[in-house]
Amino acid sequence: MATLALDPRLSTVTASFVNGKHSMLIDGQFVSAASGKTFPVYNPADGEVICEVPEAEAADADRAVRAARKAFDSGPWSKMTPSERSRMIWKLADLFEQHAEEFAELESLDNGKPVSVARVADVPLAVDLFRYMGGWSTKLLGNTIPLSAGLNFHAYTMREPIGVVAQIIPWNFPLLMAAWKLGPALATGCTVVLKLAEQTPLSGLRLAELIQEAGFPAGVVNILTGFGEGAGAPLAQHDLVDKVAFTGSTEVGKLIAKAATGNLKKVTLELGGKSPAIIFPDADMDVAIAGAASAVFFNQGQCCCAGSRLLAHDSVFDQVVEGVSNIAGRIRMGPGLDPATELGPLVSQEQFERVTGYIDSGTKQGAKIAAGGKRHTDRGYFVQPTVIKDVKPDMKVVEEEIFGPVVTAQSFSTDADLERLAAQANDTIYGLAASVWTRDISTAHKMARKIRAGTVWVNCHNVFDAALPFGGYKQSGWGREMGAEVLNNYTELKAVTIKL
Ligand code: ADP
Repeated sequence: MATLALDPRLSTVTASFVNGKHSMLIDGQFVSAASGKTFPVYNPADGEVICEVPEAEAADADRAVRAARKAFDSGPWSKMTPSERSRMIWKLADLFEQHAEEFAELESLDNGKPVSVARVADVPLAVDLFRYMGGWSTKLLGNTIPLSAGLNFHAYTMREPIGVVAQIIPWNFPLLMAAWKLGPALATGCTVVLKLAEQTPLSGLRLAELIQEAGFPAGVVNILTGFGEGAGAPLAQHDLVDKVAFTGSTEVGKLIAKAATGNLKKVTLELGGKSPAIIFPDADMDVAIAGAASAVFFNQGQCCCAGSRLLAHDSVFDQVVEGVSNIAGRIRMGPGLDPATELGPLVSQEQFERVTGYIDSGTKQGAKIAAGGKRHTDRGYFVQPTVIKDVKPDMKVVEEEIFGPVVTAQSFSTDADLERLAAQANDTIYGLAASVWTRDISTAHKMARKIRAGTVWVNCHNVFDAALPFGGYKQSGWGREMGAEVLNNYTELKAVTIKL
């Protein structure tokens, strides 16, 4: 393949990986798609093609599932002790950490995000997730259960791996999403077919090399590159798959749930959000304003839990809108690989059109732009951080997930009535997250109870930890990722009853 002129800021080792031949990992081998087809990967900062990767289709998905099935049913993996599994996962984490800088560069090149952010967020969080999950292999406990059926019984429960897991991930945190998915699957002893997002396959393909180096037996982890319908749908439908774990849009989540009905495979879904950031008048305003800005502009707003609906008390509303708008105006935009960049481009032309389309729909429906609202430069997929005010609850910009650096600002005036405010916060089909900004501990706890979402942050937003469960109420999903809870989603519970 011709060597492409890549960004000179990339290290030689990363540039040589990107310019190398890219293969998928199936059954312990690096392979091309059965059809030989490839597709281009784009640099979001300039729209240029950076490399080609294999285009997996149903035949490749089938091959990968069969390899995972064999590895689960009869491979050496199925005979490993919990502590051997732990050590292998920790070895992967160590290798991953040794190559942290490469991963930060790949993530920035492929997704567009600032390399400075990938270094302190995506990569260390992913490494930590593997370490945390590796520790769980030896702690998957059951209970002994006293039976009233009679005293001459001994009964206990045990957790067993669910089996072959298909995992389909999005492009907003390519590496972190791979870690969230692979970590618990490996800790519990499952085998995996992971399909990377078509927009951002590079860090996952590099991770595949480290998975081989760490010594996971053939077929335990299979990694595919390809499109949703071509490679994702055959995985979700496959009869030899025991569980599908999906992160992405609510629309596709519903398709996955339908596709899974054929063999009633287990399904977990981490889907969209329209999370409120709620600012009370007693909040520390400097902290709240900076926090509300970061809640929505972090990762170019491409977070399922982005604080995309700003709700501020009417006594501080103008101050909050002005403060967030000032921050929006000051954020330094540029290519992710520029170390000074604070906000990079969106991931793709499609997302660029989607986000600018939403901004246009807001202004057409009568909303006002308080900051941003435009494209930044004429190359790449940059959209200015945008604050929209004068919105009404039924506008598309308020109701729908935009998935870009765009926040709508609404006021509330319920001094005494938290019930009405909670109803406003909960007035969405989603229930992924919310943040509450107040100095009143009582208000904080009351709101935490009233909000129908899987995560409530108080005086912070976008705080993640491998130990904290994450997932959605309502149409934001099924099940939880991370924490101890995720292990239930990767295991079956068996009750054993013995007549003595
Ligand atoms: P986005 O709209 O943000 O790109 P999607 O939900 O479309 O998010 O995609 C998330 C992941 O789901 C990607 O890996 C994509 O390839 C995959 N995907 C898309 N459509 C399907 C489908 N019909 N079946 C299975 N996977 C799909």
